Amino acid sequence: MSQNLTHILSLQDIDMKMIRLMRVKYERQKEIKQLEDLRNELRTQQEEKQKELDQLSKAIAAYEEKIQEINARIKKLEHEQSLAKRADLFNTLTQAMTQAERERIAIEQKVSELVDKRVAEEESLEKVKASLSTSEANSLALENEILSSIRLINEEGSTLQEQRKELAKTVDSEMLAIYERLLRNKKDRVVVPIENRTCSGCHIVLTAQQENLVRKADALVFCEHCSRILYWPEEAPAITTGEEAAPVRRRRRRLASA
Ligand SMILES: [Zn+2]
Repeated sequence: MSQNLTHILSLQDIDMKMIRLMRVKYERQKEIKQLEDLRNELRTQQEEKQKELDQLSKAIAAYEEKIQEINARIKKLEHEQSLAKRADLFNTLTQAMTQAERERIAIEQKVSELVDKRVAEEESLEKVKASLSTSEANSLALENEILSSIRLINEEGSTLQEQRKELAKTVDSEMLAIYERLLRNKKDRVVVPIENRTCSGCHIVLTAQQENLVRKADALVFCEHCSRILYWPEEAPAITTGEEAAPVRRRRRRLASA
C-alpha cells in the first residue's frame, strides 16, 4: 500500500470520528431546542389562559353591574308601586317588576356559568404554571449537562482538527483534493478495501480486471459504481485452495475463537 494511501486512511479515520462527533453534537443541540420549545409552549399556554381569565372576569363584572342596575330599577318600581293609587298602574308596575326580575335571573344564570368557567380556567392555569416550573427546574439540570457535553465535543473536535491539519500536510495535495471532494459528497468512508471482489463502500461486485488494477496499486482506482477509492487489503490472508481471499474480519473472528 502506498504511503499516501496509508496517510489518507489515517486522515479518513479522523474524519469519520469528526463526522460522528458532529452528529452527536447535532443531536444534543436538538435536545436543547426541544427543551426550549416545550418551555415556550407552556409559556404561551400560560399567557393565553391568563388572557381568557381576564376576559371572563371582565364579562362577569359587566353582568354584575347590570344586576345592580336591575336591582335599582326594581327598587324604583317598588317605590312607585307603593305610591300607586290606581289598580291599572299598580298592575303595570307589577308586570314591569316581574319582567325585571326575570331579566335578573337570566343574567344571574349567565354569571354563575361564567364563574364556574373561571374556576375551571384558574385550575388549568395553575396546572400549566406547575408544569412550567417543574419543566424549568428539571430542564435546567438537563440543559447544563447537555451544554457541558457539547463543550467536551467542541474540545474533542478541535483536537481532531489539529491532528488532521498535521496529517493532511503529509498527503499528496492532488490526492487530498480528490479525497476531500468525495468525502463532501458521501459524508462517509470514501477510501474502502475490496472484500470478496466487492467494493465495501457500495457492496457491488467488481470485475476481475478492476480487482487486478487495485491489487497492482499503480494508480488510484475508483469504484465504477460509487466512485470511492478502492484499495487492496494487504493484511488479508493469501488465497488458499477452495477459498477465495477471506475478508479480514472473518480471519479475526476465527483467531478470536481459536
Ligand atoms: Zn462502490
